[in-house]
Amino acid sequence: MSFWRSDYRALGQTLTSGRLGVDMPQPNGLGMRIAVFNQALAEEMSLEWAHADMDSVSGWIQSTSQPMAMAYAGHQYGYFTMLGDGRALLLGEWQNDLGICYDVHLKGSGPTPFARGGDGYATLHAMLREFIITEALHALGVPTTRSLMVLETPYKVWREMDQRGGLLLRTAPHHVRIGTLEYANRALSPEDYARYAMVILNRSIGLWNGANALEQGRSLYGVGDFDPEAVRCYFEEWSRRQAELLAHWMRVGFAHGVLNTDNISLMGMTLDLGPCAFVNTYDLKRSFSSIDQYGRYAWGRQSEIMEWNAGVLLSCLLPLLDSDHNERRAVLIAQDLLQQYRFCVEQALKRMQWMKLGLDPQRFSNHEEACSLVSDWQVWLEESRPDYALSYLNLEVILQEAMQFDSKSYPVQGGLLESSSRHISVDLPSRDWVARWINFLEGAGDGACLSSLAQMQSQNPSMIPRNHLVEDALDQKVLHDRDAGWDELLKAIREPYQRSELQRRLNQPPPLGDAGYCTFCGT
Ligand code: AMP
Ligand code: MG
Repeated sequence: MSFWRSDYRALGQTLTSGRLGVDMPQPNGLGMRIAVFNQALAEEMSLEWAHADMDSVSGWIQSTSQPMAMAYAGHQYGYFTMLGDGRALLLGEWQNDLGICYDVHLKGSGPTPFARGGDGYATLHAMLREFIITEALHALGVPTTRSLMVLETPYKVWREMDQRGGLLLRTAPHHVRIGTLEYANRALSPEDYARYAMVILNRSIGLWNGANALEQGRSLYGVGDFDPEAVRCYFEEWSRRQAELLAHWMRVGFAHGVLNTDNISLMGMTLDLGPCAFVNTYDLKRSFSSIDQYGRYAWGRQSEIMEWNAGVLLSCLLPLLDSDHNERRAVLIAQDLLQQYRFCVEQALKRMQWMKLGLDPQRFSNHEEACSLVSDWQVWLEESRPDYALSYLNLEVILQEAMQFDSKSYPVQGGLLESSSRHISVDLPSRDWVARWINFLEGAGDGACLSSLAQMQSQNPSMIPRNHLVEDALDQKVLHDRDAGWDELLKAIREPYQRSELQRRLNQPPPLGDAGYCTFCGT
């Protein structure tokens, strides 16, 4: 069974006379065409269209009772601003046959009262870009909003020139952001804010725990009772998930690019992909966004900036942290929670670095040689700035070769690096480091190399969506209506751990690495 709900709206009306968003008419889908359709996600959502056609899609969009543009605020580049869905609409909540909930959102559907002078539309290019990057992240195992389809609109969008227009249908368990709470905290009475926040936090906890509305026999947005313990539990779980998310971003080389609080999900998943990119070269200071002049959202600063964002989230939770509303006690609790958050992030990043090298972080975390192998490798990455993804694939080749020989000293005798270099294309750290690493893995017990190899193959992608290939595929598709490059890239990024020829061929960096590559927001 599946059905539409629109509980945000019901909630908004009950608590706040609709002040948490603005009702909007449904887009009618007239003259639109499907540019790309995510069959696998449609099946997961139990959408029963044999093949997607515009009539089914329009009918589906129009079957929702009342779309809503949500109000939210946010700290953009550190400054507080009123925002809201300027070009997005929450269509409603969909439930698949298993009872799993999806909020369905449109992006690029036209101006709303929150558009602040923007046209409310989006280019086909930008929406296709979000589609392919979310597909890549999902396949890489990185929690993210998903993209169900991109529609091409009949109208053009002006971005320094006329461009084809696009509309993205995206899904998430919910699309509530830190900025939603920032807004509600200011806009609502303390009582209404507490009830609203509890609803959102309880719903997040419910979704994390796999709760489903049908079983509970009531909406997951049902009114929540003020419960400081639940708020603390919420933040602890968010911390754990946000820390894992950061570690994933660092693991695969993903730079979100605009980590303003209005783009940070309360579910701990990647949200609002705009000027994002994947690093080729290992350069922690690299930011790709055209407006990020000072590198606030640089790839390697993501955990630092997310701690700042976690602080903003905690400031929104302050009124909910102490049962007697004692501010001093609430601040102490918040400080403690922020400390825990920091610890979660440190641990997640450390685990990620170890796992990428095939080292077991639990077994060897107190082992001096293992620790020094990891820190030497990290220093080498920072100093040499090699191609990030290929560096680990090279290590994998070396490990595989070493496993074919018995001699522990093989690497230092010279044969290994030379023979491996036939298969590998970029720098490696010193022979000494490689020899120590192989020796360590060999010395870790029977079958250790094999399990390290398996671990590396599950942590290190054989394929990331290289920026230049994404741009080429988009240009071909949008400017020339040629789908071959797009289809091939989509196929490859959907199997990012597959060690095969397709991935090997498409996972090559551009000749100049990241030099000159720049991304844009709000297109
Ligand atoms: P973003 O950078 O996509 O997260 O957008 C930041 C804010 O600007 C959000 O409130 C968006 O809804 C709004 N926005 C971005 N582009 C447009 C546009 N073309 N028209 C209206 N609002 C927009
Ligand atoms: Mg945004």
